[in-house]
This record gives sequence, structure tokens and C-alpha cells, in this order.
Amino acid sequence: MSSLSHNRTLSERDRDAVLHPYTNPIRHQETGPLVISRGEGVRVFDDSGKDYIEGLAGLWCTALGWGEERLVAAASEQMRRLPFYHLFGHKAHDPAIELCERLLALAPVPMSKVFLTGSGSEANDTALKLIRYRANALGQPQKKKVIARDRAYHGVTLATSSLTGLAVNHRSFDLPDPAVLRAACPHHYRNARPGESEEDFSTRLAAELEALILAEGPDTVAAFFAEPVMGAGGVIVPPAGYFAKIQAVLDKYDVLLVADEVICGFGRTGKMFGTETFGLRPDIITVAKGLSSGYLPISAVLLSEKMVAPIVAEAGRIGTLGHGFTYGGHPVSAAVAVETLKIYAERDILAHVGRVGPRLQDGLRGFANHPLVGEVRGVGLIGAVELVADKATKAAFDPARGVGAALVARAQQHGLILRAMGDAVAFAPPLVISEDEIAEMLTRFARALADVT
Ligand code: PLP
Repeated sequence: MSSLSHNRTLSERDRDAVLHPYTNPIRHQETGPLVISRGEGVRVFDDSGKDYIEGLAGLWCTALGWGEERLVAAASEQMRRLPFYHLFGHKAHDPAIELCERLLALAPVPMSKVFLTGSGSEANDTALKLIRYRANALGQPQKKKVIARDRAYHGVTLATSSLTGLAVNHRSFDLPDPAVLRAACPHHYRNARPGESEEDFSTRLAAELEALILAEGPDTVAAFFAEPVMGAGGVIVPPAGYFAKIQAVLDKYDVLLVADEVICGFGRTGKMFGTETFGLRPDIITVAKGLSSGYLPISAVLLSEKMVAPIVAEAGRIGTLGHGFTYGGHPVSAAVAVETLKIYAERDILAHVGRVGPRLQDGLRGFANHPLVGEVRGVGLIGAVELVADKATKAAFDPARGVGAALVARAQQHGLILRAMGDAVAFAPPLVISEDEIAEMLTRFARALADVT
């Protein structure tokens, strides 16, 4: 049993009591935690008072940075007035209604209804379930297979882990579910053939998708899940023409498109949604993270009429729509999300990203000639630097050497928190970051890169 004695350090107490997500538990006993105790703007401070620029906005979510008093006020006002209510069985509350209305008004393509959930995983899990429900409603019970891509990240519930295309989420969990079909990752730098242009690469991936759908039987394939920019897979920006060509295949075989906007939504790529930046026409959009600037857990599933009409018909036939989470659309989270969306509009966050985004992208491109840097990529305020053992052959490092992890550890010593996906190091700072703060972030990164070179 762990001791609650306050004579022990937080680090010791953490090692005794906490099993950390996405952490090697053995290594954690050696390294211990970085205990973050407060935040201000784009910076967080550890328990010794050292400051760090949060280069990943926490987990790609704290778009407004730390210490946004309006969100604190929205939460406390709602906490006093109605700290909990739900939406089950014809109940409603005003923050949820207002949030759904605002999301419908912001949606990049016409959407009919919004289903509120609590996390990105819950939103995608809900999308999966509603796709099934719709297939049954339409009398197409065989049309339920879904396609997701290598390196995709759609969550970690039992179902969404299978959509996620990363080995770490499958190994020893007896996943993925074989009913999830896998399409290629549109990583031009890694997966294009020698001399293949971005357009040709996109054409080939669309042809491969078509071949997959035909091999499975178009009447068995329901949906294709895609992040506009793949985040946790290594910040993979779609190659030229990619989504237009993929969309044409989906349309041809009546396969739904689910845009997972959990990272890209609310300005990250320079437009309100990645869907707009890259020309998707989704039938379902899932959002989370930036929806509340990460201040409280909340997510949403935006559904087009193509989804809603059959779902309503099916529920009309069998009765209650049997799905929902106790905390889906939690009133305090919803009030904070509504306030977050108001702030994005009032402060014109898109114009800000338009101004400072090029500073980040130019700054990252400044590292392209470094001997360890294979590729620099990004859009808006998301980007990555991919490290390679050999620039000419693009050979990756031996995974056991983990240069990405070493670089991130050095960056932390220099006061910058980043995240490595293999040997790609991701940048997704709070959207409110200033040009000076971007410059400081890049200076700290340059020091870390020099350390590992
Ligand atoms: N979808 C994307 C694109 C994500 O990046 C994430 C989380 O990083 C998720 C879904 C899952 O969200 P959550 O961790 O809130 O369940």
C-alpha cells in the first residue's frame, strides 16, 4: 500500500501510486515524472518553478494557452448554476443546446445534428456505432466494414484502438479487430516510390483504396476514417490532390467519410477545420481537444442528414436510440466549450494563425539542411521535423536508439516540451502563441538538436 506521507516527494509518491498512460512503467521508475504545477500563456511550470514552452499545447489541445480567465469564469458560473445534468430521456440544458447550435453554424459542410460525448475516443466510437446503426436502418446489414489508415490515430477504446494504425496500441491487447480494413498512409516522404510526384502518389493511393473496396465488395464497406492532417502518426500532411482523389472513390462506392478533426478542428491548420484546408466532404465530423481548449473534457459528433434521417427512422422502428454517456455534453464542459468558441471568434484566431503560422513553418524549414533532418513538414500551427540516420537513403534510426526520444528529453532540459513519434518530433503550440514565443521555442529546439548531433 502506498504511503500518503507528505514528507515524501511528489516524484516518489507518483512512482508508488500512478500507472501512467503512454509511458514505459519500468523506465518511469528510473526517470520519475515531470510534475507540472501551473501554467501561464504558452508556458507551464514544474514544481521547482522552471518554465517550459508547451510546444504541443499539452496534448494538441490547449489552444488558448493556460490561464484564460474567461474559461475559468464560464466554468465557475455554470458550476454554481447547474453543475450536472444530462441529455438522456428528453432532458436538455442550455449550454448543450447552445454548443450544438454553434457547432452546426461553424460546420464546414452542411450538418444536421450533433451528438455530444466526452473525449475524442468516445466521439469516434460513437461514429462507429452510428454507422452500424444506419446500415441496419437502411437494410444493408452487410455494409459495416470500415477503413482506416496506417499510422492513423482515432482513440483507444476497444473499438477505436482498431481504427488507430499504430502497433503500440495493438500489441498485447489482441488488436486490431480484423473487421477494420487498413489503407496506406499518405506519407509522401516515406511511402512514395522513387521519383513519384505528390499527385502521382495520391493517384496511386486512391487506386489502391478502390482495389481494396472492390476486393472486399463495395456492398460490405461502410466508411473511411481520416484525420485531415495525421497527428500522432507523425504529423503527416496530405500530398497534393489526395483527398479529392480519395473522395471520388468513396463517392463511387457509397462509402461514408468520417473526418476526425480532433486535432485539426478550430484553427490548427489555418482554417476552422482541416476539412476546409484540404477539401474533404465528410458525412461525419468528430471534434474534441480545441473544442474546450482542453480546459474540460468534451467532444462532439457532427452528423449530416445522410446519417440522421436513417438513424431517426431506425429509432422510430425499434424505439430508444440506445447510446449515450453520463458525461456526454456535461454542462460545465459545454459552457466552457461555448465560451471557447466565442473567444476564437472575438479574437479572430484564424487571422492570428494566418499571421504567425508562416513564422513556425519557415522556422522549422530552417532545420531542413541539418544532417539529421530528413524532412520538415507542416501547415498552419502544426508541424514536424523527421530525423533520419542517413539523409541520402532516408534510412531511419535503429528504433532501440530512439533519437526522437533523446531529442525531446534534451528539449525538456532547455525548457521546451515536445513530443516524439518515433523519430518525428511534433510541434503544435497553443494557437495564441506570438511570433516572439515561436522564435524562442525554435531557439530552444535548436539547442536540443545541437546536443544530440
Ligand atoms: N482522434 C485524434 C485525431 C486524436 O489525436 C486523438 C487523441 O490524441 C483522439 C482521436 C482520441 O482522443 P482522446 O484521447 O480524447 O480519447
